[in-house]
Formats: sequence, structure tokens, C-alpha cells
Amino acid sequence: MPELPEVETIVRDLAPRVAGRTIRHPRLHKSDVLRGVTRRTFLRGITDRRIECLTRRAKHLVFLLDSGRRMVIQLRMTGSLLIEAGRLTAEQERYAVLTAPLGRRETLVFRDVRRLGTIHLLDEPAWRTYTDRIGAEPLDPGFGLAQFSELLRGSSQAVKKVIMDQRKLAGVGNIYANEALFRAGIDPSRQADRIAPPAIARLHAAVHAVLSEAIDARGTTVRDYRTGTGQRGGFQFSLDVYDRAGEPCVRCGTLLATTHAIDGRQTTFCWHCQGAEEPRRPRRGR
Ligand SMILES: [Zn+2]
Repeated sequence: MPELPEVETIVRDLAPRVAGRTIRHPRLHKSDVLRGVTRRTFLRGITDRRIECLTRRAKHLVFLLDSGRRMVIQLRMTGSLLIEAGRLTAEQERYAVLTAPLGRRETLVFRDVRRLGTIHLLDEPAWRTYTDRIGAEPLDPGFGLAQFSELLRGSSQAVKKVIMDQRKLAGVGNIYANEALFRAGIDPSRQADRIAPPAIARLHAAVHAVLSEAIDARGTTVRDYRTGTGQRGGFQFSLDVYDRAGEPCVRCGTLLATTHAIDGRQTTFCWHCQGAEEPRRPRRGR
């Protein structure tokens, strides 16, 4: 599932190519991706509308239209968004959910094999409600250590669950939660409100660093994710723990362990590097 760095990469690829362009004769091939809007209202709402800009909020792509409404796309597991040149081939139309011609013989294509992705069309008040339900953006310069500490101190759940909770923190999913916790040397199952301030500071820095590095590498492709130009990302080659169960820890060589006990998702970690938050010193023999 694309997380913050993947969606950011797609937005950076596509934003300059869609800004100022007008959607002509859009076709919605599958209506079951629509949320809170009928097919008719949706198509009327985007037809002949100019795209003012494309931005990201958490893992969502936000197209601001000249009507003031926003078309918000969530790619979820298998969705992809590309601009195709020329007339679409049968292969390019395969799995297409929405095709939106933008003039100059280019078409914005939202494709989704399993159709777990969604599309909203929101006016200003609906957008306010939508965005207010999502937590802080971790790369926002205003998102400091104090705010992050408050977020962790306010929950007795496992720290991994807290940093993946979209109502608290935007855009961090399973890949980057695993990576950030490893870098910070924190047990993913540890209760968030029991983490000591120095470890909170390490985690705050690790979340920022992992997300920034992943954006620089154009995201992580484990399976389906493709950039806005249809290529694979590059951060899968820099993962320390995610998808590396049973392999040796890059720091200490201990074989990495995996559990599904925290949130039902795969959590991979190093017992040695992340096992003990405050290591107990053996007294025997000293
Ligand atoms: Zn280790």
C-alpha cells in the first residue's frame, strides 16, 4: 500500500503535468470506487473543470478544481495513477477506473486491479471535515518533538499502532513504522506512554529521516506500487527490517524476528537492538 513517500512521489511527478489543465469528457468505468457521491454528480462535478493544483494529504491525492471542490483519490493496495499519451490502448484501459482526458492528447488514468481505492468529490466544508479527521503531517516543519511526545504520551497502545494511527499521524504505514522503530531502537510492542523522552526524540527523528530518505529514493516497491511515471521506487533496497524476516540484523547480526501480534500486520524487528528499552544490568559476578 502506498504510504506517504509513495504518494508524495506520485504527486511530485504528476502535479506539474496536471496543473492548469482542463478535464474533458471523463469516463468512469467503475462506480464502486465513489464515496459519498453519485456517478452522475461526480462526472458533472469534474467535467470541463480546470485542475488548479495537485497536492498530498496523508496517503491521499488531492486535486483542487477551479470550482473550489476537491477530487480526492486514495490508491490503497493496487491503485495507480498515470498520465498516458495518445489514444489509450486496450491494455492501458484494462483495470481503468477513471480516465480523464486533459487535452494535448494526454489522459489521466486511475487504474485499480482489485478496486480497493476510493474517490471522493468534496466541497470546502466537506473537505474541512475530511482533513480535520486526519492527524499531523510528520514532515510538516511545524510538527516538532513536543507535538510528537504529546501524541505518544496520550496513548497506552503499542507504539507501532500509535504511529500508524492516521487520526494521530498522517501517512505512516507498516513499512515506515517498522523501519523507524528499528532505527530508533524501540520495541514496536512497547506501550506508547511508557517510552522515555530520549527514545521519543530518537523516534521523532527516525520517522522524519526514514520518510525523507524514502521520498528521495522515490518510494518503496515491494509489489504493486509504481511512481507517477510508471517506474518502481528505489527504497526497497534500503530497508533494514521490513520484508527481511529471518535475515540478519544490519547492526548486530541477530536474526530478525516477525510477529503479527501487535496489529495483525507483519512486524519485523531485532530482539537485541529493539528488545530492551532500558537494559537491565546483570548483577551476578560483579
Ligand atoms: Zn540487531
